[in-house]
Amino acid sequence: MAVDFGLQGQVAVVTGSTSGIGHALADALASQGVNIVLNGLGEMTAIERTRAEMAETHGVEVLYHGADMTKPSQIVDMIAVAKAEFGELDILINNAGVQHVAPIEDFPDDKWDQIIAINLSSAFHATKAAVPIMKAQGRGRIVNIASAHALVASPFKSAYVAAKHGIMGLTKTVALEVAQHGVTCNAICPGFVKTPLVEAQIADQAAARGISQEAVMRDVILASQPTKQFVTFEQLSGVLLYLVSDMGASANGAAWQVDGGWTAQ
Ligand code: NAD
Repeated sequence: MAVDFGLQGQVAVVTGSTSGIGHALADALASQGVNIVLNGLGEMTAIERTRAEMAETHGVEVLYHGADMTKPSQIVDMIAVAKAEFGELDILINNAGVQHVAPIEDFPDDKWDQIIAINLSSAFHATKAAVPIMKAQGRGRIVNIASAHALVASPFKSAYVAAKHGIMGLTKTVALEVAQHGVTCNAICPGFVKTPLVEAQIADQAAARGISQEAVMRDVILASQPTKQFVTFEQLSGVLLYLVSDMGASANGAAWQVDGGWTAQ
């Protein structure tokens, strides 16, 4: 039986929702009757297909905004458009993210700048624009899609781990600032989820380590995940729906680990 989280008619912006986790979380919200602002890169025909499919399947309004998460003015515009089009903004999911894997001494400067911009600064700009709207409504939910790498490190991921640790600090700070306004700010910290972002890493890690892709999956990627299973979209959606519902009102400033026990080690 489907659970009703009481979100019907609310409005959510989900950054990086043309693919992977962001798309799955946007779809989970839409399935609860939430109107969605989709965002992310990709080929326009494919994006329009995704947008129309989500709207039709769930009977909600789905709007696409192509803000580039490295461009603060475009991020601010996306939040303004959400408010202008729907009249409110109830949920902000800061999800867009990219990865680059290289030893620190070879880590390209432009990759560092790009990862910090997309994985960390974009959440600052979107949150800064959304908080006044949420405070005025007396209600809002901000969920940052962090990572197990917000809590622990792995080699060759300096920018990603730095950005994800940073987003945990941002999450806690915003949580304290909005706590008395009916707004919460939390981070979901997934372990490995099989998305295009991870599939690309399997190939990169295999090349960097000179081992097969099967060996990377078993000995590198799922080595740190005690369940030896990838985290699923449904498992992440369950935590998200709890956090953004009224049941999540006292959950604030926390890291919600959904990592099969990775960070318990
Ligand atoms: P993905 O590559 O499938 O999706 C990333 C999304 O971000 C895409 O929609 C892409 O278009 C968008 N994006 C990238 N650069 C952008 C830009 N400049 N402007 C706007 N959008 C941009 O990746 P994913 O695995 O679904 O990752 C989503 C989030 O989850 C990321 O923050 C990632 O760090 C985090 N995460 C992923 C895993 C995992 O195992 N897949 C684990 C922990 C955390």
